[in-house]
Amino acid sequence: MKLQICGAAQTVTGSCHFITLDNGYKILLDCGLYQGHEDELEDFNSRWLFKPSDIDVLVLSHAHIDHCGRIPKLVKDGFRGQIICTSATRDLSSIMLLDSAHIQESDAKHNSKRQHKNIKPLYTEKDSKICLRYFTSIEYDIWHPINEFVKVQFLDAGHILGSATVTLKITENNKETVFGFSGDVGRYNRPVLKDPVQMPALDYLICESTYGGKKHEETPESDEKFLQIIKDTILTKKGKLIIPAFSIGRTQEILYRLDKLYTEGRLENIKVFVDSPLAINATDVFIMHPECFDEEMHQFLMTDDNPFGWKNMKYVKTVEESKALNESNQPCMIIAGSGMANAGRVKHHIFHQVDQDKNTILIVGYCADGTIGQRLIQKPETIKIFGIEKKVAAQIEVMSSMSAHADEPELLQFVSNQDKEKLKSIFLVHGELKRQEAFKTALQNNNFKKIIIPELGDEFEL
Ligand SMILES: [Zn+2]
Repeated sequence: MKLQICGAAQTVTGSCHFITLDNGYKILLDCGLYQGHEDELEDFNSRWLFKPSDIDVLVLSHAHIDHCGRIPKLVKDGFRGQIICTSATRDLSSIMLLDSAHIQESDAKHNSKRQHKNIKPLYTEKDSKICLRYFTSIEYDIWHPINEFVKVQFLDAGHILGSATVTLKITENNKETVFGFSGDVGRYNRPVLKDPVQMPALDYLICESTYGGKKHEETPESDEKFLQIIKDTILTKKGKLIIPAFSIGRTQEILYRLDKLYTEGRLENIKVFVDSPLAINATDVFIMHPECFDEEMHQFLMTDDNPFGWKNMKYVKTVEESKALNESNQPCMIIAGSGMANAGRVKHHIFHQVDQDKNTILIVGYCADGTIGQRLIQKPETIKIFGIEKKVAAQIEVMSSMSAHADEPELLQFVSNQDKEKLKSIFLVHGELKRQEAFKTALQNNNFKKIIIPELGDEFEL
């Protein structure tokens, strides 16, 4: 069989890998949107390295847009197979893809106006609705036969609700190959979700490497840090604390943390706004999938039936309300998407607040190169947003402990059960080159053998 890396090669977005069996059967793993440098977006997202109508089946690891965001285009361009994922991934994908279509359409409108030409969106709301027909869900842990020679198993990846690692058992020429795709690996001992489950013994592994060479802060320490930032910004300086957060996963984790701190009497009665219609829908999906919760969360649910909300926490639905929040002077916390601050309502909040020293912008997730989040982490003197140069007077804070991605020790723990003799190659994807090289060294130090850092489009005969 043959493997081609069609995305997330030496970068963290656009996850997509393509397997062709000897008999011609074609499997796609993920079909994500590229979200990095603006000048490369259109080129990557609008063209395929394969013919969509040739693909027989798509196996989806989780509902983050950099893993599922090109599915509506895939179907629009001819794919007619099944899209196999967990049921929580299916529910989350349905709201994610409609939201993504909405963004594609409004971006296209905006760019058409700016460039005085008719720019078509990558896909529309209608395309997103159509692609949802092809989704089919299977449970965690079971071996599901895709056909007579391929079986798939999802194991909990502990990354976001519904996230899974993908293991394929492929029988070709009377020989069985166990092929693994890590998807995005989550964290151990984290609130809300279960821990990542180790994969069975593999012959080949495509492994994410987002935080190669990095170690996250411990959680208890960061609870203190979080409370201190809240106190300094909102109570002392009477400013706004702005937190760019993915609407799915990160937002619910922050809300759960705040809800818990509030219940324990450690959080003052401050105003918290969740400025994201997508987060409202996502929170509903969370509540519908308790099968994904860990023991701690089940315990907490015994005492608090809404673990993502409390008095003084308010969801902001309409654009008008969001705009009013932009202009208001009241000290508060605002949690809004997108997570890398490159789009969405949080971009407007940062635009309005970044030039005042009473405010704080708190980065809690991974920000790819070139994004506003990443540029803020560098603490520049000024930053260009919506084409206007703004002074950066607000305090910039980073809390990596909230990351939904395993750090290097956790990635090593995740692969520690693998049989190093059986495992023929590890392909590192979903990481900037520097992180991948660091993780490659760490794997080699742990006696893993052939470790490959592929480039976009690279093909391998397995
Ligand atoms: Zn992810």
